[in-house]
Amino acid sequence: MKFDIPAGARQVLQTLTAAGHEAYLVGGCVRDLLRGVEPHDWDICTSALPEETESCFAGQRIIETGLKHGTVTVLMEGKPYEITTYRTEGPYSDRRRPDYVRFVPNLREDLARRDFTMNAIAMDLDGNLRDPFGGAEDIKCGLIRCVGEPDQRFQEDGLRVMRALRFGAAFGYAIEERTARAVHENRAMLDRVAAERINVELRKLLVGPNAGDVLRQYPDVFCRFWPELEPLAALEQHNPWHCWGGWEHTIRALEAAPADVTLRLAMLLHDIGKPACKSTDEQGIDHFYGHPAVSAKLADEMLRALKFDNKTRGRVVLLVERHDAQLPPRSQVIRRWLNRLGPGAFFQLLEVKRADNMGQALEKVKNCLAELDVINSKAEQILAEGQCFTLKDLTVNGWDVVSAGIEPGPEVGQVLNGLLEQVLSGNVPNERSALLKLLNCKSMNSPK
Ligand code: ATP
Ligand code: MG
Repeated sequence: MKFDIPAGARQVLQTLTAAGHEAYLVGGCVRDLLRGVEPHDWDICTSALPEETESCFAGQRIIETGLKHGTVTVLMEGKPYEITTYRTEGPYSDRRRPDYVRFVPNLREDLARRDFTMNAIAMDLDGNLRDPFGGAEDIKCGLIRCVGEPDQRFQEDGLRVMRALRFGAAFGYAIEERTARAVHENRAMLDRVAAERINVELRKLLVGPNAGDVLRQYPDVFCRFWPELEPLAALEQHNPWHCWGGWEHTIRALEAAPADVTLRLAMLLHDIGKPACKSTDEQGIDHFYGHPAVSAKLADEMLRALKFDNKTRGRVVLLVERHDAQLPPRSQVIRRWLNRLGPGAFFQLLEVKRADNMGQALEKVKNCLAELDVINSKAEQILAEGQCFTLKDLTVNGWDVVSAGIEPGPEVGQVLNGLLEQVLSGNVPNERSALLKLLNCKSMNSPK
């Protein structure tokens, strides 16, 4: 079969083979071609030693950062191509990189060190496959299967536990039975994996179309690196709003959220504080008073532990903290929220609230969902009309306040905020003449 292979990759393979070396496309790009998906990068493996590869591309732009591990990166038509000498790997005892790599003379050994059969296929320029572990067949059947003995492979590098789940979430493939059992049994290997590596896989997993099923089937794996999830995974909630337990509600809410890392993390963590806040009244109904604040604090700690960047962490914590906020669908209130959060976070909060509702008893939340639609359109209207909701939207500024006789200093800000408050409440229009008039009254009344 012929595949669409970019000119740069073709040139790399041709250059290496013309010099008498073996060279193949390998790994993710071959897998994606066979899945019928456009690859996002093109990795190449070769029998050439790194210095032989370098001499093949003398005169081209070469990046040597991966040299110790046998990788030479060549820039072709502005795109980087990683060319890696056939190799095997030692264990990952520093939790990040293999202790050693050893160059090997044949392709099969190189393919054997790879994690899953679908990732252990090589392809030449004519589309011929070298597929000693039956990866193409597994792709056809939608199966994730370890190359070799699953227990051993997960023990060599615990990250593979997360990679199995990530590919399951992203492709909707099932994890083959023995591999699945080994995932559960070897989850403790994640303790030996650097947080940054888990983070990379978790992000990809959460935005996968099948993330919900993976969370359903492997809660034990998630609880291994985030033990704070354990009480939530076991939480029952007897409450008319909730037809599901804590874990199923969390999963349904996550599935209902758009495939965006921040929103998916917010859904995964929004109720994490519920178990600690649970109380049961005389009627046997469970309540979770104050859980958003507790959830936000826990979410912050969990995201720090997994080395999420400050921007993602800050936004997720904000959304978790506010996920239960009351939002009456009135323009006045919406302008205040737009002011408090900014439009980006505000629209995300609406997504979070919608997703949270979708994970509850639908009969009960129909009205809430309709109300969220109203809020959404009103907020869009406020933005489209350029209505005032921040200090910089006001038709007067600090100079006007000073000209009205207020001493430069903190009082200027207070006066401006007072004017904004009046405009947000709808008491005064955001018109310069009206605001100046108000200012002059204020300055006459302000103590000198
Ligand atoms: P993606 O589409 O996300 O890039 P990928 O399979 O290409 O998926 P990479 O991390 O780019 O993932 O790795 C490239 C190849 O290297 C994989 O296809 C696999 O053959 C091999 N590989 C990557 N990580 C591991 C690992 N932890 N253990 C064994 N083999 C691995
Ligand atoms: Mg890749």
